[in-house]
Amino acid sequence: MTTTPSAPSSGEDRRRAISRVAGLVLVALGVLAVGAAVVDLVGGFDRTVAVVPVEGLPDRVAVDNGPGLLWLAFLGIPMVLVGGAGLLYGYLGPPPTTPLEPGTCRACGRHNGPEATFCDSCGSRLVAA
Ligand SMILES: [Zn+2]
Repeated sequence: MTTTPSAPSSGEDRRRAISRVAGLVLVALGVLAVGAAVVDLVGGFDRTVAVVPVEGLPDRVAVDNGPGLLWLAFLGIPMVLVGGAGLLYGYLGPPPTTPLEPGTCRACGRHNGPEATFCDSCGSRLVAA
């Protein structure tokens, strides 16, 4: 097996990286969806206003059956919320509910002695227990 020195924390790093990308994509798609719904809604009003009664035809025959993309807003808003949560997780780091053993390196995961001040493997300063 060949593992890089940073292997112990790479799982968390990968989850956070995925969370950042997925969060960004979800927020972007959600904003686009809400934007499309708003544009369609506004455009729908415009079309409704623009109806010109034509003699011999019922008033509403011409144009509109209302905004057809409003459902996108109901899709897009949760996407923005979920994506935002993903971005927060990706950028703010792990929740502070993962206590490390004394002497464990946060940077590379190496277990040093409980009295160690710096990591034997990567040289990072260790958090005091
Ligand atoms: Zn280290």
